[in-house]
Amino acid sequence: MTTTAETTIKGGSWLFEDTPGDTFTPEKLSEEHRLMAQTTEEFVAAEIMPALPRLEAKDWELSRALLRKCGELGLLGLSAPEQYGGLDLDKVSSLVVVERIARSASFATTFGGQANLTVLPIVLFGTEAQKAKYLPRVLSGEIVGAYALSEAGSGSDALAAKTRATKQPDGSWSLSGEKMWISNGGFADIFIVFAKVDGEQFTAFIVERAFGGLSSGKEEHKMGLHGSSTTTILLQDVRVPAENVLGEIGRGHKVALNTLNYGRFSLGAMCAGGSRGAIGDAAKYAAGRKQFGQPIASFGAIKHKLGEMVARTYAAESLAYRTAGLIDAAIARSAHDGPSIARAFEEFAIEASICKVMGTETLDFVLDENVQIHGGNGFVSDYMAERYFRDARVNRIFEGTNEINRMLIPGMLVRRGLKGEVPLVAAARALQDEVLSASPQAGGDDAPLGAERRLVASFKKVALMVIGTALQTFGDRLETEQEVLSFAADVLIDTYAAESAVARASEAMAAGHPLAPLHEAAARVFVSEAATRVDTAARSALAGTVEGDTLRTLLAALRRVLKPAPLNAVRLRRQLAEAVTARGKYIFA
Ligand SMILES: Cc1cc2nc3c(=O)[nH]c(=O)nc-3n(C[C@H](O)[C@H](O)[C@H](O)COP(=O)(O)OP(=O)(O)OC[C@H]3O[C@@H](n4cnc5c(N)ncnc54)[C@H](O)[C@@H]3O)c2cc1C
Repeated sequence: MTTTAETTIKGGSWLFEDTPGDTFTPEKLSEEHRLMAQTTEEFVAAEIMPALPRLEAKDWELSRALLRKCGELGLLGLSAPEQYGGLDLDKVSSLVVVERIARSASFATTFGGQANLTVLPIVLFGTEAQKAKYLPRVLSGEIVGAYALSEAGSGSDALAAKTRATKQPDGSWSLSGEKMWISNGGFADIFIVFAKVDGEQFTAFIVERAFGGLSSGKEEHKMGLHGSSTTTILLQDVRVPAENVLGEIGRGHKVALNTLNYGRFSLGAMCAGGSRGAIGDAAKYAAGRKQFGQPIASFGAIKHKLGEMVARTYAAESLAYRTAGLIDAAIARSAHDGPSIARAFEEFAIEASICKVMGTETLDFVLDENVQIHGGNGFVSDYMAERYFRDARVNRIFEGTNEINRMLIPGMLVRRGLKGEVPLVAAARALQDEVLSASPQAGGDDAPLGAERRLVASFKKVALMVIGTALQTFGDRLETEQEVLSFAADVLIDTYAAESAVARASEAMAAGHPLAPLHEAAARVFVSEAATRVDTAARSALAGTVEGDTLRTLLAALRRVLKPAPLNAVRLRRQLAEAVTARGKYIFA
């Protein structure tokens, strides 16, 4: 099953194209996708949300039972091969499921530990024998999996792990070491463990608790996610059969990174789903809560919050669906086996990191405003706002911290540019000639969202100006200029998000979608705010790169390139806020 038309779009290439091409949007979901969404939504409402108090009391038998139910519904093996009990569906199907599972962040973490972090490495890198042995039982929820990469001394620097694998005379392995913060750690049956063969070659292993020598530490006392198990995993001379090496010896980084590439995309999508749910809660509360004799939803300050929550969520969601469509199209063109699916994830690793940063930061913004709209009730545990706020904080920390992902976004783009995979160097040089020769900005497109399309085009120029100048100034040293890279990442994130939102809104308007005016409002508000952020980030990046007259010239060029049209965003935010308040839920999905 595929979701987008045949296309050969490559990761990061959107920065160099005038138009976004064929983008997948939530409005293009098939009947099958919608059915999957409905099944998940009903399951979450009927089975997971009522179970939260027991999960938070660490009833891991209930977590197991819920995973088995997920297995019965097919949710654990959405894109796993049918021959092992999977459904072999596209990534859009996984996206609609995780968006809805997100309603309960604790169970979503348990689910992610199984459906992404255990299933995926085996599907991508497992031998046929490993797939046949483990996948059917993991996909049915009969056994529970966990992903054991981090250690006390190696989190972001995961490849510095100290856990050791030593070959035994009979060809088996002995694993010793300690893993930390492992989701599902308290009750998992199998673990994807990363260890260094002879302390050097980073390698992945499938380790069963039943092998002996593996034990779970006590549950961590966390800020949130109290209904998800997080423990250390102690490995003491665990004997692992030779056939349980996952992938190749010394190539564990491939297993780890490709799992994370997909995990980041999935977490970003999950967060967009969480934002949607919280917008519904905030809108309902604002409609019901009266102060000064009227619902607080009628106050402009509250409308501003709701409107901004909707606009940012719209953009996060639009880019997640667009990315899913790109990955699906790449997989559809491939041989559909583990290595080619891993290559598709790698191809869109830049977009996956953008999805992670944008999704997690949008969710934190939305949940913070949700607490604020709830006032005192947002700070006490009688309402979900408080729990959601605590639960979400970790999203910016795991699956690669947002700082690490911010380094990766421009870093990967530059590497691809220097290898000639994307035309970064030529585009940056051409742009330099254009902006420094003070050519006027192209204008005149009065088509719907024409001003926003022009702004997106100017964001791309700004991104190239920032990255091109940094490359020219720092050369090989650029990777140590983290502040500049971070600012460049901010420009790239807003560019991809804005283009995705405008593409989706344009399609809704062209199709005469009943919600077209709201699509238009969301896209226009987002692009207008993004313009301010892009301007600030670009100024900071340029000021961290060059000085004196060169800086003055570039800032003048920036002013010429980035010229937002005047916009009454207050009116548009009110329109969005009134729509969510009237419906009592997020408007677009
Ligand atoms: C609830 C929870 C569940 C988890 N589940 C799992 C799991 O299932 N499996 C698993 O393997 N791990 C898991 N983790 C671990 C998680 O992946 C790590 O916490 C994360 O990778 C960050 O590592 P760290 O905590 O060591 O932070 P550090 O790496 O020490 O980072 C601390 C700070 O320094 C910054 N920093 C670090 N290096 C750099 C750099 N080079 N440049 C700039 N800034 C940098 C970071 O961005 C961060 O702000 C979980 C963690 C939590 C809290």
